[in-house]
Parts: sequence; C-alpha cells; structure tokens
Amino acid sequence: MAEPTPNAAMKILREPTVYVTGRQNVNLDDIDRFLDDHGVAWQTDTLVAGEHLVETAGRICYMSFAKPRPGGNQAYIGHILEVGHGSVLEHAVWNLLITGVSRSLTHELIRHRAGFGYSQLSQRYVDESVAEYVEPDCIADDPELHQIWLETVTQTHQGYVKLTEKLLKTFEAEPDKTLRRKLARQAARSVLPNATETKIFVTANARALRHFIELRGNRHADTEIRKLAIAVLRILQQEAPNLFGDYQLAPLGDGTFEATTPYRKV
Ligand SMILES: Cc1cc2nc3c(=O)[nH]c(=O)nc-3n(C[C@H](O)[C@H](O)[C@H](O)COP(=O)(O)OP(=O)(O)OC[C@H]3O[C@@H](n4cnc5c(N)ncnc54)[C@H](O)[C@@H]3O)c2cc1C
Repeated sequence: MAEPTPNAAMKILREPTVYVTGRQNVNLDDIDRFLDDHGVAWQTDTLVAGEHLVETAGRICYMSFAKPRPGGNQAYIGHILEVGHGSVLEHAVWNLLITGVSRSLTHELIRHRAGFGYSQLSQRYVDESVAEYVEPDCIADDPELHQIWLETVTQTHQGYVKLTEKLLKTFEAEPDKTLRRKLARQAARSVLPNATETKIFVTANARALRHFIELRGNRHADTEIRKLAIAVLRILQQEAPNLFGDYQLAPLGDGTFEATTPYRKV
C-alpha cells in the first residue's frame, strides 16, 4: 500500500497536557468572624486554600480550634487520611483543563462520577476535519504498527471530511447555517476513531481526585489514562502536598509510572 499522506491539518499527539485553570481562595475575614463569634482563635500553617478549607471543615466537626495538636496542617490532614474521614477532603476543589487525550480516554474518565464535573468539546458543533489524533506509545514506537495506524487514521479522517462535504449538500435546504453544519457533523463523526483528540474541562474535589489517581494510576489501567493520572498527581503534589504527598511513584517496565498509597479510597 502507498505511503499515506496525512492531511496537513492532521497532527499526532502522544502526551496529555493538563492546565490548572482554577483553584480555591480562602475568605479569611469570614473564618475569623466565625472564630470571633465562637470565642476562639485559630490559624493554620498552610498557604494552600484547599488544605486550609479541609482543615477548617474538619475542625468544625469537633469544634477543635482551641487547642490544635502539634504538627500543623500536614499532621491534621495526615490523620484524616489515616482514619479515612474522606468526606472532609471534598471541600478542596480544582478546575483542570485536559487536552491531547483521546476520545477513548475520556470515555473512561467520565465513568468517574462522584465529585467530578465535566465539559467536553462537542463533535456536533466543532469541525473535526482539523482534528488531532492520539497514538499509543506501543504503536508509535514500532515502525510497522505505526504505518498501519497512520494509514487507518488517515483513511477515516479523509472519510470524515468527504462525508461532511456531502452531508452539507444533503442538508442544504436547511436555512440555519449552524444547524446545517451540526446535522452534517453529527452524522459524519460516526466514522471518527477512538484516537480522535479531545479537550475536557474537569472540576473535581480532592477525595474524587485521589480515587481517580488510585484506579487510573494503577498498572492495570490503560496506559494513556495512567499517564494522565500520573500527570495530574504530579501537579496536585505541587498544588497541595498535604493532600497528595502520601503517593509514591514507582516506574513500570514500559517507561510509565504507577502511583501507590497506604491510604486508599479515603
Ligand atoms: C482497570 C480498570 C478496568 C475497567 N474495566 C471496565 C470494563 O471493562 N467495563 C466497564 O464498564 N467499566 C470498567 N472500568 C470502570 C469501572 O467499573 C468504574 O466505572 C470506574 O473506574 C469509575 O469508578 P467508580 O465507580 O469507583 O468511581 P466514581 O464514580 O468516581 O465513584 C467513587 C465511589 O463513589 C461510590 N459511588 C459512586 N457512584 C455510586 C452510585 N451510583 N451508587 C453507589 N455508590 C456510588 C463508589 O464507592 C465509588 O467507588 C474499569 C476501571 C478500571 C480502573
């Protein structure tokens, strides 16, 4: 078979990108107002809003502001992880924008429901004739497999472009241009492969993120989502070391990593 000529607009990706688009703020004025109203003084030693809010929420449960045990926020959250009072971790939230991942990855990602919110790129509204594709490492690293993959993806890509053009004619009686395009794209997308790149905005709390990291940062998870889980973990360990510092990374034989913790599913 002849060398496939990928469309100039067709780009191949192998690594996810994670943008931290949002994190929390603490309203110290109102925390202090609450403490004043209840005749106690307390301050934490963390500068991370999510960690501060988790500790505040946890201390509300027993009104334990007056005489905190030594060790500061790190010891406090360490104890929460140890005894498994996981609901307290739901008060720390991050907004992550994830790109460079395949539709098959996001199909797995959105199975995580509790504590997650999603907004994903629409294949009905967005033209996929400029789509990017995510190639698994074990295929990309083998010239023969890469060739088969490239031919297949190129053919389906070209099929999508042709179908869209013809479907726009099928629906040309439709006066609303946006609706006409949507009708064409929603049918043409049926041939797009799992490898099609997508973008997804994810809001999740620390408890849900920990569960995701444990299931998907595991050696039994699919390689692409494991790479994402490890990338998310590395970011969160920088963002909030007291909430995510208990995870250890161990290299796996294929060059990827596995995340483990003594405090699973808190
Ligand atoms: C290695 C691996 C292989 C997999 N293979 C398959 C497969 O072949 N087919 C397939 O369909 N899926 C598969 N999955 C997906 C898996 O079954 C889960 O749907 C996914 O991992 C989300 O996990 P979760 O439901 O625990 O997570 P979340 O939705 O994040 O929920 C967290 C926790 O909240 C609780 N919870 C959430 N929702 C409910 C509810 N409605 N009722 C009661 N408790 C709830 C549970 O304790 C749950 O563990 C696989 C997952 C992994 C990691």
